Amino acid sequence: MSVPADEPGNPAHAIFERFLRAGECREVLGCFVELCQQLGLQGSGLQLYHGLKAALNYWNAKALWSKLDKKAGHKDYDQGTACAGTKCLVVGAGPCGLRAAIELALLGARVVLLEKRDSFSRNNVLHLWPFTIHDLRALGAKKFYGRFCTGTLDHISIRQLQLILLKVALLLGVEVHINVKFEGLVPPTHKAGGWQAVLQPSSSPLTHYEFDILISAGGGKFVPEGFKRKETRGKLAIGITTNFINRHSRAEVEVAEISGVARIYNQKFFQNLYNKTGIDLENIVYYKDDTHYFVMTAKKQSLLKKGVILQDKADIESLLSPENVNWDALLSYAKEAANFSTNYCLPELEFALNHRDLPDVDMFDFTCMTRSENAALVREHNGSRLLLGLVGDCLVEPFWPLGTGVARGFLAAFDAAWMVRRWAAGTPPLEVLAERESIYQHLSQTSPDNTNKNISQYSIDPATRYPNINLQAIKASQVRDLYLVGTVE
Ligand code: FAD
Repeated sequence: MSVPADEPGNPAHAIFERFLRAGECREVLGCFVELCQQLGLQGSGLQLYHGLKAALNYWNAKALWSKLDKKAGHKDYDQGTACAGTKCLVVGAGPCGLRAAIELALLGARVVLLEKRDSFSRNNVLHLWPFTIHDLRALGAKKFYGRFCTGTLDHISIRQLQLILLKVALLLGVEVHINVKFEGLVPPTHKAGGWQAVLQPSSSPLTHYEFDILISAGGGKFVPEGFKRKETRGKLAIGITTNFINRHSRAEVEVAEISGVARIYNQKFFQNLYNKTGIDLENIVYYKDDTHYFVMTAKKQSLLKKGVILQDKADIESLLSPENVNWDALLSYAKEAANFSTNYCLPELEFALNHRDLPDVDMFDFTCMTRSENAALVREHNGSRLLLGLVGDCLVEPFWPLGTGVARGFLAAFDAAWMVRRWAAGTPPLEVLAERESIYQHLSQTSPDNTNKNISQYSIDPATRYPNINLQAIKASQVRDLYLVGTVE
């Protein structure tokens, strides 16, 4: 007989508390399986959520349920029935895939999420716009991560954000599978059959899962077939990110963050940096989070002069290829820039380690940014339709130093969920696509200043977020080429 979960000393409480605190992806998943086993719960979707809620009704769990219930009670979700019967596959457990999965679960869809890796390892820190902070608080972020945006903090490490969202997704019944890579689509083989996925490993039982919605959130390097990419080539921009161990000492606490110093606003700072160290930057950001995180855009000449880049080359790929970079010089460059910009007040800067157990320093090319021409498309084969939507970096690659990535990623996740809601309501496919493209037109211009100020009212309904949005700016007749009939190439 299972033990009532509200009894003092109940083992389920201890497992739930471990789940709330778990700091690694596999640990979170392990605790969740253990919890469901302990409570004798099976299944997925909102039914699982209700089961957990009924079984765990002690104070700490109840505080979280009241937040999630408030969220789930929003009219957009129709009491979790708006997308009942809809089957979704989400690719990628980055922040945007997880955020989209949560919305789809709240709409009552069945949601299966695939992630090719089995760990969350990115120390790098994301800037959060006020609406994302509000959104994450409403999902109970503080319950999972007590330090979440305390005081005036407006950032979080990518891995902590993934952990929070993974926990919420699991509680809402999203089925999460790690170590599974999405490789392509299998169209229905017979009339009225469903769409399936080609997966690695091919032995995964999920290859038999039939879905009618695919949300791709695989990051900047992964875009499913059928979507065209647009490249924007700007002037040469070389980004460097680095993380140092944060020991949370008094001296470290006192050092001020740099929420974005751009050359045009503070020429003197950059001139002094150059005169003293030979380091020449366009901008620099410093956030104090789990680590001391710096992101900067460096000028090529100074990287050559300081011996970070060995030889000047015309194409950026060869310029930044590992053979052309002196790793030790890059470490010194990053450390010197960090030291100077914090007035040498961060004592004993020691590199944090990345997932390869190496000092966490990286150099990236931001010269060429890509975005998808369209946000969604429909495929039809053997009479079965599949709606595909992109969210996050695979929709629009962000320029990190501007800190727009995750905020625009969340906006797109909400927009995609709205699209799925419209689809499930039986809206004609071309209308769904036209509306999605009308909304997508706005994404790259969004900022905290030109989105609605009333962030507490934000929902998946675009009208709550974008002022004066015209959902019919693009007509159904203009998106016919986004409706693809026939098998996948
Ligand atoms: P991601 O966070 O990239 O997540 C995509 C997920 O999909 C990954 O977990 C990946 O493993 C998985 N995946 C990919 N292909 C498949 C597949 N075929 N099958 C299954 N799973 C798949 N932004 C900043 O603002 N500042 C930074 O310093 C910064 N540093 C970054 C460092 C790295 C190494 C990377 C990759 C990104 C960084 N970003 C940074 C970008 C930032 O992480 C994203 O904007 C943000 O995480 C939202 O991205 P996303 O969820 O769309 O994609």
